[in-house]
Amino acid sequence: MAVYEKPACHCGSELVLSEEFFYREQRRIGHDGVPAQRRMKQTDDDKYSLTQCLRCPICTHHFAFDYDEQGRIVLIGDIVGGRLNNGQNGSVVSK
Ligand SMILES: [Zn+2]
Repeated sequence: MAVYEKPACHCGSELVLSEEFFYREQRRIGHDGVPAQRRMKQTDDDKYSLTQCLRCPICTHHFAFDYDEQGRIVLIGDIVGGRLNNGQNGSVVSK
């Protein structure tokens, strides 16, 4: 098995996995027509990952990634303005 090399930024810093989540809050409506203060219990369905990328904590560059055969994160390329620098959409990660 090849030795795993952690993905790194141009600046030399190690990249971190950055995820943005979307979540839904639901409240019952009272007899007075006013939504309850307390929100309803969240289910798994109410939260999902919106975007996933690798991010440099130092210079905040973003990178697209994929997983290798062993499920390890591997770097694909820079994301500039939401797009991979090879012209593909950064959110479409394919090999
Ligand atoms: Zn950097």
